[in-house]
Amino acid sequence: MSTPERQSSFWCEQAWVDGAVAAGVRLEVAASGTVAASESGVPARLGDCRLPGVTFPAASNAHSHAFHRILRGRTHDGGTGSFWTWREQMYGAAAALTPELYEQLATAVFAEMVVTGWTSVAEFHYVHHRPDGSAYPQEHAMERALARAAVAAGIRLTLLDTCYLAGGFDAPLTAGQLRFGDRGGAAWLQRLASLRAAFAQEFDPEQVSVGAALHSVRGVPEADLDLISRELPADLPLHIHLSEQPAENEACLEATGLTPALLLAKHGLLTRRLSAVHATHLSGADITALGAAGATVVMCPTTEADLADGIGPAEDLRAAGARIALGTDQHAVIDPWLEMRALEHGERLRSGERGRFAPADLHAAASAAGTDAQGRRAPGLAPGSSCDLMSVDPGTLRTAGSFPGQLALSATASDVHTVVVGGRILARRGRHAVLGDPAALLSAAAAAMDGEASQPAAVMPATPFPAAATEVP
Ligand SMILES: [Zn+2]
Repeated sequence: MSTPERQSSFWCEQAWVDGAVAAGVRLEVAASGTVAASESGVPARLGDCRLPGVTFPAASNAHSHAFHRILRGRTHDGGTGSFWTWREQMYGAAAALTPELYEQLATAVFAEMVVTGWTSVAEFHYVHHRPDGSAYPQEHAMERALARAAVAAGIRLTLLDTCYLAGGFDAPLTAGQLRFGDRGGAAWLQRLASLRAAFAQEFDPEQVSVGAALHSVRGVPEADLDLISRELPADLPLHIHLSEQPAENEACLEATGLTPALLLAKHGLLTRRLSAVHATHLSGADITALGAAGATVVMCPTTEADLADGIGPAEDLRAAGARIALGTDQHAVIDPWLEMRALEHGERLRSGERGRFAPADLHAAASAAGTDAQGRRAPGLAPGSSCDLMSVDPGTLRTAGSFPGQLALSATASDVHTVVVGGRILARRGRHAVLGDPAALLSAAAAAMDGEASQPAAVMPATPFPAAATEVP
């Protein structure tokens, strides 16, 4: 099936506009895929594509490692374990990746994101080279594989090319980490510039763009932090894993006398363009510094629960001036509604209070904060936004009876009935308009990763994707 036509106008039965639900919202879509005009309280017009239920800005996934999806439901045996034992299993998956396998797996994962309501993703990418650390014969082979996967799935990809030079403070990369590395900060900057130039030639920047990441303060020596702070182009977003585990803080304090956040500040890297991922274990001074910088903090609440990381101080960070975005990270689930809810639930468990993040705050974290962290246009219904939408069925087992403005506390990805990217309907009822059922793709990718013959998995019969958009007669 080819890419669906871009609709010229939508009429939403109800929609989330300016932080509240309005009825009868009509959008006109520009040829670029942005919203040209928007009005509320109006009837549908002839030819409008009708979106029943409640339509929200699509979700923006601010932190992903696509290949971690292969570990879902596979790391829960064996009794006790920790983040660090999980990491060994993750390295096993990383070792098995080839550009071909990664393209297959990432296509399935990105399709899962699209049908669940995410229309952009910041992919924190560090599997750059062959397992022994040598370069692939084709330049940027792994990065091109991810870009092709994003194009196939129709998701907007910000490929955060990651600098990963050390296995710890004063420790070289381990054998399992060799393929993540570069020869030093200067070599990484050079590869990043080359990748950026190549992608600018090959891809529409609305679809695929390049950003930068530092794996962590463990992964980049201080001399390279300085170099990167001076030389990284100012227009690139910069992400980093920060204080996910107490052990990282302890090692950083021992090696540098500073916490990870304050080490970044020392090297001029704690600025507004920084997105700090996790920020689970912070001191009061860290919170103040991240807030004063106006940095974004990417919380990944379902991952942080799955990996036993802890509950980060999201509300304290927001009160200090930081912006909160959301990511699915290792993809224990891929569901913007569950991430929104887990952010608020974490706050409730931590504080003993309800309503720390209002539904409007949760939607902002799941949409515009995530695209800002990618240097992208926000999704939504306001003029000038990307016409990236997710429509929710308010009459399902989960949502029936909910007030439309409180669906963030009751809906799941299973209740998303339609997903629009740039004015095109890319998913309906869990099926991708071009790729079909993402579950079948995921089963085939898992079998291929496991080294089994790649054949379509047995799946439940599914309703075919409707050929034509639902139009108002
Ligand atoms: Zn991560």
